[in-house]
Amino acid sequence: MGVEAHKDLLASIGVDVDRHAKMMGMGLEAYQNQFLLQNNRPEAMKYFDWFMSEIQGDRIAEINKLKEQKKPAVGTFCIFVPEEIIVGAGGACFGLCGGSGATIADAETELPRNICPLIKSAHGFKLQRTCAYTQSSDFIYGETTCEAKKKTWEILNKHHPVHVMNIPHMKREKDLKMWKEEIVEFKEHIEEVTGKKLSVEEMKEGTRIVNEKRKALLRLDSLRSMNPDVVPISGKDGLFVTQMGFLDDPVRYTQKVNELCDELEKRVEDKVSVFEKETPRLMVLGTPFAPPNWKLHTAVETTGGAIINEESCIGHRYYKDNVDLEGVEDEDTLMSRLMNRYSKIDCACFTPNTPRIDKILEMYKDRKADGVIYYSLSFCHTYNVESHLVTEALEKEGIPCLVIESDYSPEDAGQIKTRVEAFLESLTFKKKAQAFKGK
Ligand code: SF4
Ligand code: SF4
Repeated sequence: MGVEAHKDLLASIGVDVDRHAKMMGMGLEAYQNQFLLQNNRPEAMKYFDWFMSEIQGDRIAEINKLKEQKKPAVGTFCIFVPEEIIVGAGGACFGLCGGSGATIADAETELPRNICPLIKSAHGFKLQRTCAYTQSSDFIYGETTCEAKKKTWEILNKHHPVHVMNIPHMKREKDLKMWKEEIVEFKEHIEEVTGKKLSVEEMKEGTRIVNEKRKALLRLDSLRSMNPDVVPISGKDGLFVTQMGFLDDPVRYTQKVNELCDELEKRVEDKVSVFEKETPRLMVLGTPFAPPNWKLHTAVETTGGAIINEESCIGHRYYKDNVDLEGVEDEDTLMSRLMNRYSKIDCACFTPNTPRIDKILEMYKDRKADGVIYYSLSFCHTYNVESHLVTEALEKEGIPCLVIESDYSPEDAGQIKTRVEAFLESLTFKKKAQAFKGK
């Protein structure tokens, strides 16, 4: 059906319909060129291709149906949002558009040039009214993770309601206590939006649904990365599936990811790989890839490399931990369990953040990767600065690493490709030398 069929709905929620249609046209064309032309894609990707065509159409209609039933619709740019509570209230929690450079010029009428492109892109989508998710949301979930976001909420709040959660930057007992209070406050805010008290059972059900989603994503991660001889799905498709997990209905999505995993399991068994056996296998570390930011994956996978997982918030950092529901009978225990799970997120906003480095080294060894790319969005100070400690640890372990800092403009695509090419050549050389030595 696409956006055309939902024109009236889009107009009714304040979307600039003509500009939005142009934007969607560009997005679908980019998807066509970068995804549909890949060889040997799994059959189960057909669902995700369909979802892409309805990303701002049928899915928006579904969300607005929920709103008619007084269910909450919450937009977010961060994985600290306690989505279990929103899902428990029968609502929709979704990631907002923030991966396109097409809205940045508008954002720069209110925000400085030298801040991270994700924030500017998202802010620009609101100013342009070209993100139907933003327009559908009852409120935007904001958090205090980085300076640029923290101050942007005050400006964004002029255009759309924002609820800010105070995320501490350390994980001492007193910080965790405050964090738990923030989660309780978030729950109360959801109750205000719906006008209805949330029961423990409802929140537990929401938690079960989200746990299942994360479990399916972890299964996908392991199929992508744990078999050194077979990569059954491209990194680009793997990333895209993960990105859609922030938009789709969680129950349907979990089912579709599991169907994809069933097919990938069979591929692994039959040794059906989408890359040649000697292709260097890379992990990507760093800042999130909001759709349609596929620049790095496209550069790597059209240059002879394979991306086998993302240590990112649209990646492993999102699905690595689940909420323990064992023995949870009351709200206070549930809130503590939620806080425990969320405080395991190793975002670079924390100091110190050594668990992140330990996790990276562990993942690298488990996955028998050949190298890593440390990717940071420009002006993301936390991840950029933390790259020093991460690369130092990688160097100590003799792990090859390429550091890339980029934004959403197409200008550096050629330069990134050249750097990736040189990196892949050095990895291939190393692989051949090791194979020769092993003979
Ligand atoms: S990198 Fe940090 S601030 Fe950004 S989405 Fe992840 S957890 Fe949130
Ligand atoms: S990528 Fe970095 S600067 Fe940008 S929003 Fe996330 S933490 Fe903030």
